[in-house]
Amino acid sequence: MKALCFATNNKYKTEEIRALLGPFFLLKNLKDIACTEELPETQPTIEGNARQKAQYVFDHYGIACFADDTGLEVESLNGEPGVYSARYAGDHRSDHDNIQLLLSRLENSVNRKARFKTVISWIDGETTESFEGLVYGTIISAPRGSNGFGYDPVFVPDGFDKTFAEMDLAEKNLISHRGIAVKKLINFLRGKYS
Ligand code: IMP
Repeated sequence: MKALCFATNNKYKTEEIRALLGPFFLLKNLKDIACTEELPETQPTIEGNARQKAQYVFDHYGIACFADDTGLEVESLNGEPGVYSARYAGDHRSDHDNIQLLLSRLENSVNRKARFKTVISWIDGETTESFEGLVYGTIISAPRGSNGFGYDPVFVPDGFDKTFAEMDLAEKNLISHRGIAVKKLINFLRGKYS
């Protein structure tokens, strides 16, 4: 069995990938490797943060590792909130606050195009790889739906008339940025270790 670590404290994300990986992999998360410190996330890009987190875990814990980072990039805001998506309205502010700030910045905007971007970075001492997932859509003017998290209530993916927050998780995972990046990672891992 190949042991690898997902550099996350999110139990839900861990379970989701564990189920997809199957029985040849022993997937651990930060809790499983007794990593209690906060991982550094000080890079100016989504790619940089994913790489930084994976590198930190590999360097300090010596285990093959991957980390993810995600941001919402809004075209007319020059890619904002991007790498600042979690703390757009300030440190420790809520999803609601972030959404309100986004909507106020877009108040006079005709162009409401946006995309979610996830990067997963893999490091095992031999190779470093990056897997990207993008989903394009539109920011609507008032939140709709109660599923999901983050900016889901204001994001309608292209080709759909529901927000991510109006979809159930299975429906969202099929088309989402994270779903796309995870599928690329799983293909890579199956190829590498089969
Ligand atoms: P993280 O890198 O997965 O922690 O995501 C950073 C921030 O991006 C989150 O705090 C959310 O604000 C936003 N975000 C990430 N993924 C999603 C998503 O699937 N839907 C809505 N917002 C998201």
